[in-house]
Amino acid sequence: MKEFEIIGNFFQQRSYQRHDVTIGIGDDCAVTSVPIGQQLATTTDTLLEGVHFPVDTPARAVAHKAVAVNLSDLAAMGAEPAWISLSLSIPSANVDWLNEFSTTLNELTEYYSVQLIGGDTVQGPLSITITAQGFLPDGQALRRSQAKPGDWLFVTGTVGDAALGLEVAQQTKTVAEEHRQYLLDRLNFPTPRILAGNNLRRIAHSCIDVSDGIISDLKHILSASHCGATLNLETLPLSQAMCQSVSEEQAIHYALTGGDDYELLFSLPEEQKSKMDAMLANCNVSATCIGQLNGVAEKLELRLNGEPYDLSDSGFQHFEQG
Ligand code: ADP
Ligand code: MG
Repeated sequence: MKEFEIIGNFFQQRSYQRHDVTIGIGDDCAVTSVPIGQQLATTTDTLLEGVHFPVDTPARAVAHKAVAVNLSDLAAMGAEPAWISLSLSIPSANVDWLNEFSTTLNELTEYYSVQLIGGDTVQGPLSITITAQGFLPDGQALRRSQAKPGDWLFVTGTVGDAALGLEVAQQTKTVAEEHRQYLLDRLNFPTPRILAGNNLRRIAHSCIDVSDGIISDLKHILSASHCGATLNLETLPLSQAMCQSVSEEQAIHYALTGGDDYELLFSLPEEQKSKMDAMLANCNVSATCIGQLNGVAEKLELRLNGEPYDLSDSGFQHFEQG
């Protein structure tokens, strides 16, 4: 199968169609319109087989994750997704794989009302690069750099599940059958917190999506905002699957250092707390306060039930400390 047949059979016309796309797949460029008063947010992420997902991951999981991780970046900026482009490197034109991959990708474009507007198709090691673009009202991007001392620190959903799920997928960890699928789904089918991000734009000072673990991603906020933070580890939101599968010490490790959860980590001032509760209830997303920011630049203090907590003392060394 030739490149143009792959594009025609699997991608052209099958994506959700938007009115702001003048020219989509099929010409040398896509041509689109940005609404007046809005800015364009653009992000790109590559998933490489064997690096970002295990070999033999189902095609629908690869498609889902490739779209979700990009939309999650838009969510973290408070942007509303509009268009995606796909650069696909595949070892061969495996029709079953392409069918499964493109079906999921096209379903997701429908679900999130984004249009696939172009891309590139080459032969090579399995690798998926997606560029996602979305709209932001002028000057209202939710950034990493605007956190303030005194802000409360929140995270959506539960954390650590994807990291434990990766160990389940790689068979380095066994868990009870009732938790297995949930953890694998958290790894393979992350949910970009788009609605939450859109709403947080009006009330949060800073935001990032958790792709590399809370410690590592929080450090990005701290360095960009010249703040420090105290994390209260007993408040970390852990799933039932996590709590019932590993010790508290291990759960803290997965939550703090495991990546791929794609939850939003954000900070906001005391006076916005009640608004946040109402807003997130509307989005059907939970958020948990896990700590507070202070003015001691880039110092991260971990506490468990009020006592200082040293991650490296805990004897659970599977992950590098961020
Ligand atoms: P060119 O050679 O001009 O770069 P291509 O032959 O690579 O164009 O692609 C033809 C059209 O198909 C373009 O509109 C391009 O954006 C689109 N396209 C190519 N590969 C993909 C893909 N994997 N997914 C979506 N669109 C694609
Ligand atoms: Mg080309």
